[in-house]
Amino acid sequence: MKKPGSIWLLLLCLFLLDSARGQVIILKGKVERKDLHTYIERSFSLPDSVKRISVVFSYNGKDQRTTIDIGLMDPVRFRGWSGGARNSFTISAEDATPGYLPGALPAGKWTLLLGVPNIREGVVSEYEARITIETRPVITEFSSMPIRAAEGWYRGDLHMHTGNSDGKCASQLGNQVGCPVFRIVETATAGGLDFISVTDHNTVVQAEALRELQPAFDKILLVPGREITTFYGHANVFGPADFIDFRMDAPTHAAAKGWMNAVNNSGGLLSINHPGLPSGEECMGCGWQIENIPDGVVAAVEVVNGSTMKYSIEGPVQGWVFWHKMLNSGQHVTAIGGSDDHRSEAIGKPTTVVYMKELSVQGLIDGIRSGRVFIDLEGNRDRFLDLSVTGKEVYMGGTVKIGRTDTVGLTPYVKGLSGGRIEFIIDGRPDAALTRELRSDDEKIPVKWVPGGGRHSVYVKARDKDGKLVLVGNPVYLE
Ligand SMILES: [Zn+2]
Ligand SMILES: [Zn+2]
Repeated sequence: MKKPGSIWLLLLCLFLLDSARGQVIILKGKVERKDLHTYIERSFSLPDSVKRISVVFSYNGKDQRTTIDIGLMDPVRFRGWSGGARNSFTISAEDATPGYLPGALPAGKWTLLLGVPNIREGVVSEYEARITIETRPVITEFSSMPIRAAEGWYRGDLHMHTGNSDGKCASQLGNQVGCPVFRIVETATAGGLDFISVTDHNTVVQAEALRELQPAFDKILLVPGREITTFYGHANVFGPADFIDFRMDAPTHAAAKGWMNAVNNSGGLLSINHPGLPSGEECMGCGWQIENIPDGVVAAVEVVNGSTMKYSIEGPVQGWVFWHKMLNSGQHVTAIGGSDDHRSEAIGKPTTVVYMKELSVQGLIDGIRSGRVFIDLEGNRDRFLDLSVTGKEVYMGGTVKIGRTDTVGLTPYVKGLSGGRIEFIIDGRPDAALTRELRSDDEKIPVKWVPGGGRHSVYVKARDKDGKLVLVGNPVYLE
């Protein structure tokens, strides 16, 4: 039956909706035999200040071999073509689905381009393009699904560099060259890690490579990251892939507020790196100098940095003093580790182990914020550490209310350290009376302590049989 043109046009409607992540434009229409071997242009208007466009395209008639190709043009140029190979793609300034160009997203008339390589006589296929437009920075997931949906403990490394900044590795001829992102991902995968964040200095160009690699590396979560590198300190940002202006002219929170707020407003997570390193010609701007940061701005501190572990694990070059100072000021800040690898050789030393609702970027950010995290200094999968309030569902990162005369029961759970020992650190100081020997490779050791009122943080360190520190937990907070 011949379709009147007016009905055909009526179906080309355009819907506007709002979703949690932004505005949604829906383009619907249909193709039939007369469209065979033609290109259909569906234009839509893009507003100012768009951060990301994501298109999901679907159509029926595939069982009758209808094929509709897709591509995209911005107001001045082609942005990509994926033919019939994909049903979705995304484009931002920093990263895009392979086949599409990342870059500025100018306001104006954009065109979704549809090609019709095949449609049989008498077949009418309806299509729908769902175009999501994000106008503010949000965290970026390179995978459309969690890498693993299961709740549990996941192991990863949160600090490393590639050739997008000063990370080097060996070329075929043995020369040290800027290390490509895929090499870092392969090294991390070979080390059995569940997630990594690639944190090049100030740049986010690595996001484009991570976007390409994630589908091929579908057992390891690739987390957008960067190391904000200033003259007054370094801090890692996890989650957003948008460029953030790192420039500041004084070691004050007022001067840092712009980039710190940008991280938190996008749903990202801010972690202060190697705060104990001295700044100087050896390591410019490495030590942290920015004081008086309001509560809640900084979610984590890199208490152990891998690049300085060879000098000292427990000494002042690490982040202990800085972290303890934050804890003693009443802030709840999660201790994490990072290899700070620059040679694709030390990834996973140390490993940060995070309890997550699912293995996704959001799962990681929520997990670090919750504080149920331990640092595994040697990256040994057989070792494990948790701490709970005895008889309660309160774990590391959790808070328990106590009265002045109450006795608190705490139960560390340690695996893989027979012959070693655990130490309790209360308000930044070890409490020798609570040290316990580990007699097996799987032990829960309840202890009792009378805090005598006040506000306290209590966390556990675990040592091997030679007394070497190998695991570091996070605090349970008593109020
Ligand atoms: Zn640094
Ligand atoms: Zn670094």
